[in-house]
Amino acid sequence: MTDTNIEEAKKVTGLIHSTESFGSVDGPGVRFIVFMQGCQMRCKYCHNPDTWALKNEKATTRTVEDVMDEALRFRGFWGEKGGITVSGGEAMLQIDFVIALFQYAKSLGIHTTLDTSARPFRTDEYITSRIDELLDVTDLVLLDLKEIDSKRHKVLTGHPNENILEFARYLSDKGQAMWIRHVLVPGETDIDEDLEKLGEFVKTLDNVLKFEILPYHTMGEFKWRELGWKYPLAGVKPPTKERVSNAKSIMGTETYQEYLERIR
Ligand code: SF4
Repeated sequence: MTDTNIEEAKKVTGLIHSTESFGSVDGPGVRFIVFMQGCQMRCKYCHNPDTWALKNEKATTRTVEDVMDEALRFRGFWGEKGGITVSGGEAMLQIDFVIALFQYAKSLGIHTTLDTSARPFRTDEYITSRIDELLDVTDLVLLDLKEIDSKRHKVLTGHPNENILEFARYLSDKGQAMWIRHVLVPGETDIDEDLEKLGEFVKTLDNVLKFEILPYHTMGEFKWRELGWKYPLAGVKPPTKERVSNAKSIMGTETYQEYLERIR
């Protein structure tokens, strides 16, 4: 990118929900996380329901330059692996901002990670050309595959999953490095048959550097209460250690150490 283009990128604005200075799970190493405002999904276990509204007076309109200035204060902690992650909400709903932020980041040699539910993905040319621009400056995509069965996916998130699986295939075909993440929720996504199908699907993808099972937790419940909303998973407990082991075994994500512990 030319200097002029970077100067233009720095001026692009986005609606930012919040930032986190020392993220340690949303990508490799220590990372500066930018949470974008706005999401069309309605996941029952969402721990950021306050990011859903496309407009929110508590969110702040900020320029790429302003966000990057804040991020760079922490660069000394990133080491060789860390960098910047854009999460949400749904980051791809504000794709112009994310492209500009990542273009600027790459001009500074910073590792970029996109955390997405892929809900906005469509295969029409306009959308894919913008997504290609984004992937050109994205080192890693964290993709949530929430449920392989589309009907159950709709019950869990409010939307079917066909375009999300298409996005996974799109990334694979592009040779894009990705981590796949699946939240294991008792009664919703902890179903052996579906875990097996999801595991089989992921095996058909290239460039999956990590395939993680994230046990459901209840830490986001208080946010629903704060918003005055009924928590859809009230009373659902995190999965037992045995069910997590079972899921890892079915989906082929179990480490050798975990295997030894399971059969002990
Ligand atoms: S995609 Fe993410 S932010 Fe959106 S509802 Fe689901 S968990 Fe929440």
